[in-house]
Amino acid sequence: MSTENKGPVSVEEIRQAMGRRELKAYYQPQYDAITNRMVSAEALVRWVRPGGETVMPGDFIPLLEQGDEIMELDWYMLREVCEFLRNQRERGVPSVPIAVNFSRTHVKEEDFCENLCRVVDACQVPHRLIEVEVTESALVDDSARIGSFVTGVRGEGFTVAIDDFGSGLSSLSFVKDIPFDVLKIDKSLISRNCEDERERIVLESIFNFANRLGLITVAEGVETREQLGFLRTCSCKKIQGFLFARPMPAGEFDLLCSQGGKEEGEDILVIQAPSSATQLLLEAIFVRYPLVIFSNLTRNSYYMMAYENFSATTCPSTGIFEELIGHGAATMYPDDQEAFRTTFSIANQMAAYERGDKFVRLVTRQLGDDGVYRKVETTNYFVKSPSVDDVLVISLCQNLE
Ligand code: C2E
Ligand code: MG
Ligand code: MG
Repeated sequence: MSTENKGPVSVEEIRQAMGRRELKAYYQPQYDAITNRMVSAEALVRWVRPGGETVMPGDFIPLLEQGDEIMELDWYMLREVCEFLRNQRERGVPSVPIAVNFSRTHVKEEDFCENLCRVVDACQVPHRLIEVEVTESALVDDSARIGSFVTGVRGEGFTVAIDDFGSGLSSLSFVKDIPFDVLKIDKSLISRNCEDERERIVLESIFNFANRLGLITVAEGVETREQLGFLRTCSCKKIQGFLFARPMPAGEFDLLCSQGGKEEGEDILVIQAPSSATQLLLEAIFVRYPLVIFSNLTRNSYYMMAYENFSATTCPSTGIFEELIGHGAATMYPDDQEAFRTTFSIANQMAAYERGDKFVRLVTRQLGDDGVYRKVETTNYFVKSPSVDDVLVISLCQNLE
């Protein structure tokens, strides 16, 4: 495939090419981040010239976007996609939902929903198979109209995706206010292979809020296994990128659909870097235990991670282990304080460790920030580390009521 550009093209040339159906819908599959199964795809335009030369969208879409011609192209692409899906149905090939790009101009189109339904219904394609993809910048420009646009499209049973999130002037207020379904994270955010700490923090935060808002997250431009591993730890739902598949002609994509999509069937933990695997484990622990403390009894030190507002969070998050026990005991019901101090004294825990006990557990009543006593279970697990002789402990604390 050649991407060579033979000088500037005119709008008229592109129009004629559309008439000759030289503009083709290519399909780039999207994969479930955990199962590696192909679950959907995005349609991307390619101008395949008679000689076989392929012109990329970046070489002619900006020209169309200067006028309303871009809308013609988008409707043309929707028709291509619908015909493809109709053809699959007629041959009994299983279909997956296809995302179609719509330029920002459509947001202002009064009868967009009617036109959308007309084209899709003409091919008797179920609405759930079409995803309307609009770039983030379209929404920022015209936030007043976008709410009714998205609501209207979703009301007809289509899904709506926000494309290129994070590429430009991202507005968090539209994420909060507009009820769309899918958030596509722009490839510029993962371009540094997720090796950069600042990049990871930004990505983790985006996935965190998107997942909590119940959005389906798609990472674009995934090219390496390292990126994939990191995105999985962020609970990213879908992956679109060269690592799995490039945009491909309809025939090739159709073959993939008839095979039910590629599946690598890897164990998720196998491909994790050790730090990511540890993070997954910690997340699993935190779901159940709001407070986790890592202590080194030999060195009389601790490090505390409080996941949510737990009554002991007034303690410094790191410091001297004996002071932690003193601090903890002071928040207990008076009758329980002595038991707490004794059970978790360094001497008694060392003795338990030397006896071969796996853990030490105690239930006490602890005063919460709201002034109410609640039963709290503290379990200290001994950890055998191959790298140090120190006696290490992980404490898991949970409210029992
Ligand atoms: P987009 O909608 O964000 O599409 C994703 C782009 O990322 C595609 O570029 C795709 O080929 C590319 N991509 C996917 N995975 C990777 C990867 O792993 N690495 C890298 N480097 N790139 C990856 P493409 O096909 O060149 O399209 C560029 C843009 O042109 C699209 O960005 C979209 O904004 C626009 N476009 C394409 N087709 C249409 C269309 O039918 N209508 C409209 N309005 N815009 C379209
Ligand atoms: Mg797109
Ligand atoms: Mg994009």
